[in-house]
Amino acid sequence: MLGRVRHCLLLPVAILLGVPTGARAQHVQAAPVEPKYAAMQAELIAYTRYYGGLLGLGQWTIEIRLDSLPGDFLANTLSQPKIYQALTIFDPENVAQEREPWRVVLHELLHIVTAQIHGFSFRLAGDDDQARTLVQYMFEDLVQRMAIWPVWPKPPKENK
Ligand SMILES: [Zn+2]
Repeated sequence: MLGRVRHCLLLPVAILLGVPTGARAQHVQAAPVEPKYAAMQAELIAYTRYYGGLLGLGQWTIEIRLDSLPGDFLANTLSQPKIYQALTIFDPENVAQEREPWRVVLHELLHIVTAQIHGFSFRLAGDDDQARTLVQYMFEDLVQRMAIWPVWPKPPKENK
């Protein structure tokens, strides 16, 4: 199981804690990218809007960046449930190798969905490094299992 976990870097999750407040419409932001990545960025934005809607992330602002990540990492997400904000970085070279890049987006969005309980679990682990590592792997495994479930609709063309 753990061998499949390669999607995300380990990032501090201390800021994940907190009860969401406020209300906003889902908003996807993206920084300018090199022209060669413009089409991929547009696709990732469309996937984020579509699956973000399905997952009930209507109140979130999700910022998308395309940047290189170490090794074969596809993407990484940092979520702040308290303020409904998330930042997802996609590695364009690695995402380009994926047959179903929309599942990479889904994976990252599922991290946002589970961010609050992930942060809470991480806090319960306290200073126990082994427990913290286990929490990290369990959420990574859960999110990846969910991302590859056959239940998800494929992205509609009109969202591109
Ligand atoms: Zn992940």
